[in-house]
Amino acid sequence: MVAQVPQQSRAPFASRQAHLRPEGAYEVMARSQELEAKGHDMVHLEAGEPDFNGPPNASLVGIAAIASGQTRYVPPAGLTKLREIIADTAGKTRGMKFSPKQVLISPGAKPAMFFPTLTLVEPGDEVIYPDPGFPTYEAMLLVAGGVPKPVPLLESKSFSFDLDAFDRLISDKTRMIILNSPSNPTGGVIPLKDLQHIADAARRHDCWIVSDEIYNQIVFDGQTVTSIASLPGMAERTVIVDGFSKTYAMHGWRLGYGIMPEALAERVRLFYTHGFGCTAHASQIAAIEALTGPQDHVRMMVEQYQRRREIIIDGLNKLPGVHCLKPQGAFYAFPNIQKTGKTSQEIANLFLDFGVALLPGNAFGKYGEGYLRLSYANSIPNIQKALERMAKALNSIH
Ligand code: PMP
Repeated sequence: MVAQVPQQSRAPFASRQAHLRPEGAYEVMARSQELEAKGHDMVHLEAGEPDFNGPPNASLVGIAAIASGQTRYVPPAGLTKLREIIADTAGKTRGMKFSPKQVLISPGAKPAMFFPTLTLVEPGDEVIYPDPGFPTYEAMLLVAGGVPKPVPLLESKSFSFDLDAFDRLISDKTRMIILNSPSNPTGGVIPLKDLQHIADAARRHDCWIVSDEIYNQIVFDGQTVTSIASLPGMAERTVIVDGFSKTYAMHGWRLGYGIMPEALAERVRLFYTHGFGCTAHASQIAAIEALTGPQDHVRMMVEQYQRRREIIIDGLNKLPGVHCLKPQGAFYAFPNIQKTGKTSQEIANLFLDFGVALLPGNAFGKYGEGYLRLSYANSIPNIQKALERMAKALNSIH
């Protein structure tokens, strides 16, 4: 007998899910894999994931943790020892002091922004966020019933906020400002002067800040980034979002954390309790090793990203109709393609036909139109192959 696929009820879905869209990277990945299945050779520059494995010492400690049965429920906020170590190390990198009670561990960094947003944003509250920006920001604020107020990032300002637009948009109705420096998708770093401007406005209008600092260790040319939380009067209104997915390339271990004022952490912890229960015990044991063991793996990855950045930016700037700023952090190039006379989607489709998968800039918001996002978390030979293919593709339309 053939099993029947059950009919789905016609009762409607709740309206709060209607805003959710897939991330562009997953869609392009699916399309490029279809082409690959038909025999096309593809260079993948669409995914925002490190191409490295995590530090071997952390993997081994994690495996031993699984083997010894550290595979049970643990507290929703995370292991006390890991929270203590994070309070210490994250405090040192930012020149701040945190208590372990301010630290909440989660499966990846996403819950560390999604649940604080659900805790802080009332329906009708306005939320300012970067455009182009990481798609989860808009998803989470819309699910919370917030009113989206995207602020353009300006290429002429190395992709920092358009502060005139920011000043026009901020008001007493603004409940939250989302920042991401270094940024996905642009690789831009918000300069201290702009952070001070944003911090002044946040204090004046009594807003919360969600500061997504997941790329804070992937910065180039010896620079460091400042956390807005370290500016006067800001620690009490800032949720720092960070994790192990980028710095340690441990994205599949699902490990992130938020650092926030204690009273907020108490409330967000209840969302964790009921939303996912806890973060995998063995992953947290591996995280302790990643933070306390040797850091040469992190240095090696950052050096590699910097070498690849030189090659991809040089190559992009030689393509007809393309120019690209040198990103200061993360592992993304965000070239301007307006002079090709085509839309982002048209160029992304053209490149896909020539064997290069990447994302149109408008997958990150309307102000991303006219740009592309390429992830250079890929090998130098693959990056060179992609550059050759993109040159061929653009020559075919000129
Ligand atoms: N923030 C940004 C800006 C990201 O690019 C990503 C991953 N692509 C995340 C957060 C999510 O990180 P995680 O996988 O740890 O949830």
